[in-house]
Amino acid sequence: MSNDLSNNTSKNISEYSGLQFAIELSAQSTRTGLTRCFVGILRQCYQLHAIALYRAEYGQTIEAKRNLELADVRIVDFLSSADHEPLPLHGIQGAYRSVTDSTPVEVKNGRLTTSYFPIHGCGNVCEILAVTHKRQTLLNLELLQSLLTLYENLLNIFNLAERDSLTNLLNRKAFDKTIVQIHNKEHQNFITRSQHHFVYLALIDLDHFKRINDQFGHLYGDEVLIGFARLMEQSFRHHDWIFRYGGEEFAVIIEDVSPEHIELVLNRFREKVEQHHFPFAGKITISIGCVHIEGGAPSPLTIDKADKALYYSKEHGRNQVSVYETLLRKGEVVEPASTEADITLFQSS
Ligand code: GH3
Ligand code: MG
Ligand code: MG
Repeated sequence: MSNDLSNNTSKNISEYSGLQFAIELSAQSTRTGLTRCFVGILRQCYQLHAIALYRAEYGQTIEAKRNLELADVRIVDFLSSADHEPLPLHGIQGAYRSVTDSTPVEVKNGRLTTSYFPIHGCGNVCEILAVTHKRQTLLNLELLQSLLTLYENLLNIFNLAERDSLTNLLNRKAFDKTIVQIHNKEHQNFITRSQHHFVYLALIDLDHFKRINDQFGHLYGDEVLIGFARLMEQSFRHHDWIFRYGGEEFAVIIEDVSPEHIELVLNRFREKVEQHHFPFAGKITISIGCVHIEGGAPSPLTIDKADKALYYSKEHGRNQVSVYETLLRKGEVVEPASTEADITLFQSS
């Protein structure tokens, strides 16, 4: 029996590292944390020139821009051409298609090689990992493939927990988590006065949706909800957060928009929906209530204000946008007491 100590030692270290990586990855409680951890492990394991994660448009986009904040991770929506850096993959015949069809691709460029690996989620390629390394550096593909599979499996668990199964948008649970995070971030910005940007929450409710179910059946009602979700994804920017809030109610958190423009942005979407033709159901309209997310204010209070603005839109003829701050200025609503907001948290809608 051979007793190659050095061999055994290196095997033990690699086994231990593999387990350690699995522990670190599975300890992440957010998707962003998972991505950050995954990239950190790749950095530890390989001498890489650059790492990029490209995310598909369908059924996600929410965290795309946000991850740009990570110092060494570039997460770009690879299906969109606007306002993102182009992926070299597009310029290489067949390469883009190959990766999205699940086959890894290697692209040589001078001294550097970039390897593109498909990452699967919800039955599709949902992200592409691009690692650039010096040409002479050999990648341990076996380890990389194991890490990729582990990352994919954990991503799928996040998807199951945070996505709505009908529309594939982020679900209410994700909304509750995100709104608290954004409140905290806005509060920090408010304290440090580090950033002067505006974040808005808009609640969107389909008008007379019950009639669609009654007239065409629940299945076609579902089709409208799916089609509506796709319209939202096409209409808002990649770094906006889109949720199915519940039933036929949706929410969007819009960052970096001025108070002068928010109504315009939402009205543009409202008109787009009004003009859209849904199979069988035909035309639908939506009502929107919107509020500025202020740092320091408790999140239930913000939701309550958006809800009040939405209610105002419904009460005043539907198919319209109401901004809470505008209603307040006009004396159409009164500022809720914070205790009132605590109560609304436990009311069923
Ligand atoms: P309003 O303009 O006041 O919002 O009227 P509405 O009919 O849209 O509102 P209402 O709250 O009376 O009805 C909402 C309907 O949405 C009732 C419910 O059956 C339907 N709904 C909720 N979730 C789903 C779903 O997942 N699929 C389908 N097909 N219908 C759903
Ligand atoms: Mg409705
Ligand atoms: Mg409703």
